[in-house]
Amino acid sequence: MRLISAITLLLASASVHAATPAPADPASIQRVRADVEFLATDRLEGRDTGSRGYAIAADYVASQFRAIGLEPAGENGGWFQQVPFRRASFDRPPVMTLTVGGRRISLQQGKDAALRPSVTDKVRRNSAGFVFVGYGLKDARYRLDDYRGLDLRGKIAVALSGAPKGLPSEIEAHLNASKDRMAAEAGAVGFIEIARKPGSGRVTPVVRGGRPLIDWVDSSGRAGSTPPGIKLQLSLSEETAARLFEGAPRSLASVRSDAKEDGKAGPRGFALRPTLAVDAENKWEDFTSPEVIGLLKGSDPSLAAEHVVLMGHLDHLGIKADAKPGEDAIYNGALDNAAGVATMLEAARLFAAQPVRPKRSVMFIANTGEERGLLGADYYANHPTVPAASIVGLVDLDMPLLLYPFTDVTAFGADHSTVGAIVAQAGASMGISVSPDPMPEEAIFTRSDHYQFVRRGVPAVLLMTGHANGGKDIWNSWLGKIYHSPQDDLTQKIDWDAGARYADLNYRIARAMADAPVRPMWLQGDYFGDLFDPKGPRAPANSAR
Ligand SMILES: [Zn+2]
Repeated sequence: MRLISAITLLLASASVHAATPAPADPASIQRVRADVEFLATDRLEGRDTGSRGYAIAADYVASQFRAIGLEPAGENGGWFQQVPFRRASFDRPPVMTLTVGGRRISLQQGKDAALRPSVTDKVRRNSAGFVFVGYGLKDARYRLDDYRGLDLRGKIAVALSGAPKGLPSEIEAHLNASKDRMAAEAGAVGFIEIARKPGSGRVTPVVRGGRPLIDWVDSSGRAGSTPPGIKLQLSLSEETAARLFEGAPRSLASVRSDAKEDGKAGPRGFALRPTLAVDAENKWEDFTSPEVIGLLKGSDPSLAAEHVVLMGHLDHLGIKADAKPGEDAIYNGALDNAAGVATMLEAARLFAAQPVRPKRSVMFIANTGEERGLLGADYYANHPTVPAASIVGLVDLDMPLLLYPFTDVTAFGADHSTVGAIVAQAGASMGISVSPDPMPEEAIFTRSDHYQFVRRGVPAVLLMTGHANGGKDIWNSWLGKIYHSPQDDLTQKIDWDAGARYADLNYRIARAMADAPVRPMWLQGDYFGDLFDPKGPRAPANSAR
């Protein structure tokens, strides 16, 4: 078998250059298509977390799991794990008063500042000063310590977006996604991020007020995306952001100009003069939405206690609230992520169709709350239905761009562990090559569910269909025009053959993880392994490929 697949490998990689990958099994193509067509129909109303459309989609996935022959692996012997969500908004606009040089300036919610609602404190009456913390990064490996010499206790940390030049893209994405937690660890009670360039990026001064916040809150009161101790999270208008620096040693424009220079650490931090008083009352609405979980028991008596997880998010953005009459208002999420769930189901079918079950157990999870901040996966990672230590590896299927016959993939997260070699081998067996991250600025590594498991120390991977064979232009135009719009629907020219191949590739990766004599391991000295699983087993660093 092995020798034959090595020959197939040679033949198949020849086809990479001709850009004509071997076609997929016709029956598999039809099954992937059928599932995407069901999940992306208008009648599921965009599968918003907690909605009726999502609940129907979850029932559908559970019934497919049953048909495939999986066992229920949710709560109480069922298919579901109900995630306890809380939606928080403000009863009345919060009162925010900024005191600058003795003047009291009242900030209008949604215009001058936007306070994030809270799922942990119903009433917030806080008053705090500010400390500018440069990029707001602290990391021993890269010798970053923007908090050095600064006293953040009881203060609001004010950080510039971004990070020093030269960090590996996945580590930069992780650091950028961890700034509020770093502020909390330094003792801050609040966190504000200001765009490095005026008007750029996803942060301040983009002021968004009034949008309800959704987070999970468990029975002990712990919340998913709110770091403990953080009471105030705001975004600011350009004008308000500049005001924070009044009376400070340097202006906002001056620290921004420091941050522009290449290869430098960020500007040093300093205390700011103004203070902020907040009086806000939250309105809460609690609801649940399920993770859907199926299990294929492993065949090896000792390895069956370990679990390899495949997951894909089932939720999308629901219905556009401010649609004009006659406008398409349904966020169908055909590629984001009906396609990921459909290909996960097909991977489950490929597992079930083999004469021999995998050695390790394989778990399939359709996640909720991904579009709200990777919440379902985070809840599961914190409240797993199997022992946390038994989860040894994870494959996430999210947003395969099934619009062209892809011939390469980028494997986010794979290079940190022995999963890298598994992906390369599985890809080679199908004539699919592995490419480095072509869009580091998109920070995809931290923008999908697998990241929540990396943070729990689990070697994990997400395959992005690559930039080769026309992928680059298709990705760029799709991200620009279609991503998170109602046009991500079934009118797109979906390449169903690419769907079946994406399913097959993910199946081969998960199968190899499930059958390998040893579990996936972080590489010696790897950043994420050392950070999140310092005591776990290690593979030699040269075993990546
Ligand atoms: Zn999305």
